Amino acid sequence: MLFPVPKAWGERAHLDADALAAARRRANEDPHGYWKDLAGRLDWITPPTKIKDVSFHEEDFRIRWYEDGVLNVSANCIDRHLPHRANEVALIWEGDDPAASRKITYAELHEQVCRMANVFKAHGVTKGDRVTIYLPMIPEAAYAMLACARIGAIHSVVFAGFSPDSLAGRINDCDSKLVITADEGVRGGKRIPLKLNVDAAVAHCPGVEKVLVVTRTGASVPLTAGRDVIYEHAAAKASIHCAPEPMSAEDPLFILYTSGSTGKPKGVLHTTGGYLVWASWSHEVVFDYRPGEIYWCTADVGWVTGHTYIVYGPLANGATSLMFEGVPNYPCNSRFWQVIDKHKVEIFYTAPTALRALMREGEAPVERTSRASLRLLGSVGEPINPEAWLWYHRVVGESRCPIVDTWWQTETGGTLMTPLPGADALKPGSACGPMPGVKPELVDAEGVVLEGATEGNLVITDSWPGQMRTVYGDHRRFFETYFSTYPGKYFTGDGCRRDADGYYWITGRVDDVLNVSGHRLGTAEVESALVAHPRVAEAAVVGYPHQIKGQGIYCYVTLNAGVTPSEALRKELTDWVRREIGPIATPDVIQWAPGLPKTRSGKIMRRILRKIAENELESLGDTSTLADPSVVDDLVQNRAGA
Ligand code: ATP
Ligand code: MG
Repeated sequence: MLFPVPKAWGERAHLDADALAAARRRANEDPHGYWKDLAGRLDWITPPTKIKDVSFHEEDFRIRWYEDGVLNVSANCIDRHLPHRANEVALIWEGDDPAASRKITYAELHEQVCRMANVFKAHGVTKGDRVTIYLPMIPEAAYAMLACARIGAIHSVVFAGFSPDSLAGRINDCDSKLVITADEGVRGGKRIPLKLNVDAAVAHCPGVEKVLVVTRTGASVPLTAGRDVIYEHAAAKASIHCAPEPMSAEDPLFILYTSGSTGKPKGVLHTTGGYLVWASWSHEVVFDYRPGEIYWCTADVGWVTGHTYIVYGPLANGATSLMFEGVPNYPCNSRFWQVIDKHKVEIFYTAPTALRALMREGEAPVERTSRASLRLLGSVGEPINPEAWLWYHRVVGESRCPIVDTWWQTETGGTLMTPLPGADALKPGSACGPMPGVKPELVDAEGVVLEGATEGNLVITDSWPGQMRTVYGDHRRFFETYFSTYPGKYFTGDGCRRDADGYYWITGRVDDVLNVSGHRLGTAEVESALVAHPRVAEAAVVGYPHQIKGQGIYCYVTLNAGVTPSEALRKELTDWVRREIGPIATPDVIQWAPGLPKTRSGKIMRRILRKIAENELESLGDTSTLADPSVVDDLVQNRAGA
């Protein structure tokens, strides 16, 4: 199935098919000039002359971009827009309560960020210090990130849904001296005791000197004398002028812990110049963004998507970026679409997990709304099942909006593979191909490069400016994790198929690829087949040891609201998958799952499902990053017994 580029898109896009081809050519033939020009989109205090200095090899391992350039990220995201855009809206804040929203102009953003930067300074934060941000989705979260960038402090945003233990681990790992939080968070009508969580965490964090508390709900919270400060009190005394600190391009900008789908979270470190070039450029071309357009990314700032595509990319481009405090199903299942109508959102970027959850509720909640403002849709976080893609396209976008399925990672800083809306015909479920300058390759387990239509492990053979620079405090782990499996190449950990047209299809993490009777089968493929059944809402598939086949196929299936599980349905689903993919993919076990274990960013944690399928119930591992650990108990109790 192929969805051609709509005519209007081919005409208006920053990168139409010809411009894309030209950019690819230039990136190959004149990489120095190409990457140098890309940096020209930022305001540099000292423009870089050294553009790229990279080796992925152990003996001279290094990744440096624009290293003699000097700039400040907050000046690029705010100050440079003031002469012509001071009174335009930078952030639209939509509260959890549909009656609450606010617009923050670039002028106001400047004031707020300077003020907070001065408060940080007054509480002892200096260049290079780490600041942990544990805030709900309120404008102060963006202010705090930009305030750190303004004074050269390194932020570590921790998703406000994390427990005190997870928070303490992340504070200690990077040794933050200041934590900024709120009295409480509000999500889906419920209050979350953020300050109490911080108190419980900081009890185990000897390095923390100050805790700033932003007032969100006004709940009374205990304050520890000498340590805790009500932010508004400090801010009232702070100046609204703060000169941006000149930073070297390779100075750290932030640390962000990965979502932990595969194990202990890694403190991914991004630096100043290259990251911002990539965030800003990719935001502009992937979403074909032009100033004045209303853009909404539904991620939380606690994830890299929120960093790059709510805060840094859009603001560097002078965009109007919507920040949503709530959840897709509160107060009702139409909420996303109501927000789109309320603010006339043109570009909408969300995750497959949210789409599958909404799909489960049927089309009526979508159709109750207009969505006439929408032009472009995006997806990120997991492979999007073709079924969910088609629903997104037809029901949400009324078949008129292209979908950009953006493949990337915390480690990559920004999108590496995606269709571009004015250049690429779309295939549902395919991330299409690399951004110009990005060099993907598929290799087999031994590292042999695979050509043409094939399937293998996805590596990137050369650097791009947004690449992470190290695992904080553990440079060895950085090298070992990403560059030792296939020497000289960045290993993504993802499996991928390339079809005869050269389109790339991410098949899931390499650990999740099944080997059934010698056939490689992506778990994503079996999951997509299951989800395509009209009664299935969600599915997760893992392998388990099977005497004859090597690996058997174990499926956890969540049914649509109102569907009762039965043996007949189990048989029907088994036959269905067999028919959709082939006999090789016939499920060996189907377990009904009222819920699936997900990380707090909404990704299925297959490593736990694998352990349950293997009946290794004692070694489920670290479950602290799960959104709802009780789901696991249910799955263990009702284990299907393979
Ligand atoms: P951890 O690295 O701690 O296990 P994580 O990999 O889930 O956690 P992220 O960096 O948030 O942390 O996620 C990146 C991964 O998400 C990618 O490696 C890929 O597996 C998946 N992914 C993201 N976007 C897409 C997409 N558009 N299509 C397919 N897979 C995607
Ligand atoms: Mg990962």
